[in-house]
Amino acid sequence: MTMVVGLTGGIGSGKTTVANLFADYGIDVIDADIIAREVVAPGSEGLNAIELKLGHDILLTDGQLNRSKLRELIFSQPELKSWLDSLLHPLIRQQMQQQIEQAQSAYCLLVIPLMVENNLQAMTDRLLVVDVEQQVQIARTLQRDQVSEQQVKNILAAQASRETRNAAADDIITNNGDSDELPQKVAALHQQYTELSQGYHRESR
Ligand code: ATP
Repeated sequence: MTMVVGLTGGIGSGKTTVANLFADYGIDVIDADIIAREVVAPGSEGLNAIELKLGHDILLTDGQLNRSKLRELIFSQPELKSWLDSLLHPLIRQQMQQQIEQAQSAYCLLVIPLMVENNLQAMTDRLLVVDVEQQVQIARTLQRDQVSEQQVKNILAAQASRETRNAAADDIITNNGDSDELPQKVAALHQQYTELSQGYHRESR
């Protein structure tokens, strides 16, 4: 099995930007956000279970999950969140594991925004954290998303602190500056990971 480099960071820290630079080297990128959507796609085991629990009204007319309705329900019924997590987390984990096993590049990148919060580091062999100063993080998120500063701050408060995340890291990529600085940083890490992956063998994790 391929060596797994985990990639994480707070909201708007630059995970996608960094992951795209690794992908340019032909590195297989496994994205937890994409998988989280796939496990509730129409026809999936996940969506069928949600429909069984919450009724047909949880679907949009095109058969997709009505996410805003689900968010509202979770807000008013917190126990629903635990039910949903216990349904979806194993499905997401299973899918991530399967994609890791199918990876063809020298090592693969496993991007999980809430890696540290959900204690998923055990799925990785090495953890890379994208770190950014909070002011920069808030400014970039406000520029990208249609959200208020208060909403970004609420999300930040629900995520691990920079200190906690950085303490779990093997490597840290600092992304406060210009995006021109990133390719060089990624190039150095790619070389390091390629070397580490040589002769790497791990049957299961
Ligand atoms: P999320 O988890 O919230 O989806 P993310 O960690 O994947 O975010 P990105 O989407 O890569 O973060 O970056 C957030 C925003 O900041 C994007 O609009 C991106 O283009 C911009 N950005 C990232 N890095 C830099 C940089 N070094 N300089 C300027 N803008 C940047």
